[in-house]
Amino acid sequence: MFENLSERLGGVFDRLTKQGALSEDDVKTALREVRVALLEADVSLPVARQFIKAVEKKATGAAVTKSITPGQQVVKIVHDELIATLTGEGEPGALKIDSPPAPILMVGLQGGGKTTTTAKLAKRLKERDGKKVLMASLDVNRPAAMEQLEILGKQIGVDTLPIIKGEDPVAIAKRAKTQASLGGYDVYMLDTAGRLSIDEELMAQVEAVRDVANPRETILVVDGLTGQDAVHTAQNFDDRIGISGVVLTRMDGDGRGGAALSMRAITGKPIKFVGLGEKMDALETFEPDRIAGRILG
Ligand code: GDP
Repeated sequence: MFENLSERLGGVFDRLTKQGALSEDDVKTALREVRVALLEADVSLPVARQFIKAVEKKATGAAVTKSITPGQQVVKIVHDELIATLTGEGEPGALKIDSPPAPILMVGLQGGGKTTTTAKLAKRLKERDGKKVLMASLDVNRPAAMEQLEILGKQIGVDTLPIIKGEDPVAIAKRAKTQASLGGYDVYMLDTAGRLSIDEELMAQVEAVRDVANPRETILVVDGLTGQDAVHTAQNFDDRIGISGVVLTRMDGDGRGGAALSMRAITGKPIKFVGLGEKMDALETFEPDRIAGRILG
C-alpha cells in the first residue's frame, strides 16, 4: 500500500540528510507530493488544502525513529490522518433497523445506482442479518424503474410492494408501511424517484415521502466516480431532506476514490457502504483503510 507515494517521498527524502526529527522544510517538500496525489485522486481543492494543513502541524517536529525513514514517517502520518478523516462514528455498515417495521428511505439522482443498491442492501439485510424485508418503488415517473425493482426482488427472493398504476409516491409509502406492519416485516425500503439533476419538484416529493415514512435511515446513493458532483449532491440532499449515510457506487471503476474523502470532510456524513459492481453481491461495508490506499495510490 502507498507504494507510489512512498516512492515519490523516498525520492524527496533521498536528497535530504537524515535527522532526528522532521524539519519544517522536509515536511513542506514531502507534502507537496501528497497534495499532488490527493488532487490526482479527485479530492476537492479546499479539502486537500485543509488536510495538508492538519498533516503539516502533526508532522513538523515529529520524531523519526531509527527503524523507519523520514519518508515512511510522513507516509504514516498522512495515512493516520486519512483514516481519521474517513472514519465515521459508529460501526461501519451498521443501520438503525430496530423497532420493526423500520423504514429506510433511499434517495439520489437518476443513474447513480439507487435501485440496484436498494436491492443489494435488501439482500444483505436478509442474508446477513436474517431480516424480513419489503421493497417499494416510488418512482411513478418511470414505470420501468418500478418493474426493475420487482425483477430484482424476484431475483434475490425479497418481496416487493405490488404496483398499483396511478398511485402517488406518498400513497405508496403509506401502503408500504401498512403492508410492512401487517406482513410482519422487519424493514421496508422506499426507493424514491431520481432526476437527472436536483430540482424543486424532486426535493418536494422526497420531503413529502420522508414526512409520512419517518425513516430510521435516509441513505443517499451517489456515483463515486463523479467526485465533486457527488459531494454537491450530498450537501443538497442533506440540507433539504437530512441524510443519515451515504453509499458510494461504482467504486469498482478506476476512480481513485477522492470523493470519499471530500464527502466525509465536507458533509460529515458516514459512508456506510460501497458499490463494487452490477451484481447483487457487489456491496461492501465501507473500509477507510482500503480507500485511503486507493487515494494515495
Ligand atoms: P438509479 O437510476 O439510481 O436507480 O440507478 P440504477 O440502480 O438503475 O443503476 C444504473 C446502472 O448502474 C445500472 O446499470 C447498474 O447495474 C449500474 N450500477 C449500480 N451500482 C453499480 C456499481 O457499484 N458498480 C457498477 N459498475 N455499476 C453499478
